[in-house]
Amino acid sequence: MAPKQDYIKKMELRKQRKIDAGVVSERFPKISNMIIHMTYFHDAENSVLMERTVNIFPTSTADFNMECMIRGCDNGGFDLNPLISTLIKQNKKLAKGSMKCKGKVENHSSTHANISYEINIKYNKQPSI
Ligand SMILES: [Zn+2]
Repeated sequence: MAPKQDYIKKMELRKQRKIDAGVVSERFPKISNMIIHMTYFHDAENSVLMERTVNIFPTSTADFNMECMIRGCDNGGFDLNPLISTLIKQNKKLAKGSMKCKGKVENHSSTHANISYEINIKYNKQPSI
């Protein structure tokens, strides 16, 4: 497939995934907001590639699959979706950890990228009963 078509197909898949994911207020009505702070590292020496903070609002798309920042990474990324749904189910406010990219990149080691993350979740005030 030509690179451009490949790119268009990828963008379409991403768009579809976002539509399928729905918005935060529908999937996680308890959330008033959430902050995901990530530090991206590349290769095994753990050198910092970039830092990124994502603010999630009730109107945001409920898709927390973060892309891998390494160019040419195939099927990679950091899927925070399972983690975030678990946190919300358990009413947890804070989570810290790290994750490796499972994608494949030519001429890169299998440990080409990883992130460390910190997730802060704010919940809506529960009406007192
Ligand atoms: Zn990757």
